[in-house]
Formats: sequence, structure tokens, C-alpha cells
Amino acid sequence: MKILVADDDPLSRRMLEKTLHKAGYEVVAVRDGSEAAEQLCKNDGPRLALLDWEMPKLDGPTVCQEVRKKKDQGYVYMILLTSKGLKTDIVAGLSAGADDYLTKPFDSEELKARLRTGHRILHLEGRLVEARENMRFKATHDALTSLFNRGVIIDLLGREVSRSRREKVPTAILLCDLDHFKRINDTYGHLVGDEVLQEAARRLLLSVRSYDYVGRYGGEEFLIILNNCPAASAPIRAEEIRTAIAGSPIDTVSGPLSVTLSIGVHQADNWGARPFEELLHEVDSALYAAKAGGRNRVSLAKPEASSDQELVTRSIRS
Ligand code: GH3
Ligand code: MG
Ligand code: MG
Ligand code: MG
Repeated sequence: MKILVADDDPLSRRMLEKTLHKAGYEVVAVRDGSEAAEQLCKNDGPRLALLDWEMPKLDGPTVCQEVRKKKDQGYVYMILLTSKGLKTDIVAGLSAGADDYLTKPFDSEELKARLRTGHRILHLEGRLVEARENMRFKATHDALTSLFNRGVIIDLLGREVSRSRREKVPTAILLCDLDHFKRINDTYGHLVGDEVLQEAARRLLLSVRSYDYVGRYGGEEFLIILNNCPAASAPIRAEEIRTAIAGSPIDTVSGPLSVTLSIGVHQADNWGARPFEELLHEVDSALYAAKAGGRNRVSLAKPEASSDQELVTRSIRS
């Protein structure tokens, strides 16, 4: 583990370095308070620190204050080194944000024991952060497929439609629905249906770019937002996605199953200024047209759903 040693006295610094090296730490040694603050405020900086009280530029307690001001990073456990030992000084040091203090000359066993306390706190913080991240993931992702859940993908759509208009970069909206999925459940059971959904989700994620968004919009419906996708490319990308599902059977406990996908596509140059809810309605109509046209196909949305949608669909497929 990385540890910062900040001390302006070369002898004291070297002794600390030696003791800590022996104890298995990776030591980052600095000579003044401002270097110490800079190291500790870095995102990948040390999370444990031994800070001399009196140093050039910033003293130990001021370094503690600077580090505590930064809220968007992991906890830094800081021990002040002091030859002072006066109660008022110690109170001032702890009030500035230090976690502990050690009086000079230090005893190496005491130093290691106090660092172990630091480890316990950092470990606990690590577990809390992990628990928070897990909860955040569960609140934003679908439990079966790990895709964004319905609420999040709709929020993202609203945001991306605004961004696309503001920054004048094209975006495409794809609403996808597995064909005759109910038959899979009815024939092979719900668990096989779940397997198919998981594999379909995995293939959808693999067929988009890292900056695109894929969400589970409903039971076997998926909403995909293709960022920076020119209007002319949208139907081609949709075809690739359709093929990613239909191109090869999905392996399940009941054997390989062929599954197909219907897709409605809405390209940015057809959006006008309509609110995203209306765009969703229009892309849903396009999906409906793909279903009505025989499924396993891509259909383009129109501002007002019209019967020539199928003409466009056929031209994409031909
Ligand atoms: P279409 O081609 O018209 O879309 O037909 P479909 O059978 O796919 O559509 P329908 O809406 O009739 O059926 C969707 C089915 O998806 C019904 C529902 O039980 C099933 N489903 C929804 N969520 C889940 C899920 O989480 N797991 C499983 N196994 N099935 C699900
Ligand atoms: Mg000093
Ligand atoms: Mg379906
Ligand atoms: Mg459906």
C-alpha cells in the first residue's frame, strides 16, 4: 500500500522511509506541506499519510485542512508527527482534520500499530463504497440482463435528445422487440425465456459502441440510443443489431433456439422539435409496422406514422 511521508528533516524522513519500506509500504516521500497536499489530493494519491507538524510552505494541520476540503475522493487517513505533545496543539491538529498523532521521536512498533488503525478505517470505507456502488447499480440496472432499467434509459433518452439538438450531433433511437417471445416461454418455460433474454441483451451490448446506451424498456423490449450516429447510418446499424440476434441460434438448457428481433428506428433528422415522449411514440409505431410487415425486420419512423413505412423497410432489406 502507498503511504505519504512528509517531513522537511532529511534524517527523520529517511528513518521513516526505512521503517515503512521494511513494513511493506510503497513510500512517497516529500519535503514540504504543499507537495504533500498536492499528492494527497490526486485521485490516485496515497490514502495513508504521515505528516510532520512543522514544514515549509504548509504545516501539517493546514495540509489536513486542504485534504478534507476535497469531497470527491476516497478517504485519506492522516497521522500528524509532532514533537509538541501539548494538549492544545493536539486538539488543534485533530480539529484540522488529522485522524491521529504520534510524538517524535517515534517508536516503530507504535507507528505500525497506529497505521494498522488507519488500515481498518480505510478497509471499512472501502466496504461502504462498494456497498453504495452495488446499491447504485441495482437502482439503475435491470436485475436479469444488467442493462439500464426502464427509468434510466428513458431519462437518458430525454437527455440525449436535448444534447443532440443543442450540440447538433445526430443521434438515433432504436426500439427493439423479440419476435414471438411468448412462444419460447410457453414451449420451453420461463427459465429458458430468461436465458434468451440474457443472451439477447449481451448481444445487443456487443453490437453497439461504448458510448451508446442500451436499456430494458419492457419484458422483451429494448431501447437503444446510438450517439453520434448520422441519419444514413442508423438503418445500417439497426440491421447489424437485428443480425446480431437472428444470425445465430441462442444456446439454452433446452438446446439452441433461433430468435429474431424487430426494430423501429428514429433518426435525428426526422425529429423536428417534438418532445422525446412523442418521438418514443413514433418509434413505437415504426416497431409496430416492422411486426405487421412480418417481423425480423427494421422499420423507419416517420413524424406521422404512415403506410409508406413498409416501402422504406423493404428497401433496407433488399
Ligand atoms: P411479438 O412478436 O408480437 O412481440 O410477440 P411476443 O410473443 O414477443 O409478445 P407478447 O407481448 O405477446 O409476449 C411477450 C412475453 O414476454 C410475455 C411475457 O410473459 C414475456 N416476458 C416478459 N418479461 C419476461 C421475463 O423477464 N422473463 C421471461 N421469461 N419472459 C418474460
Ligand atoms: Mg519539520
Ligand atoms: Mg415480442
Ligand atoms: Mg413486446
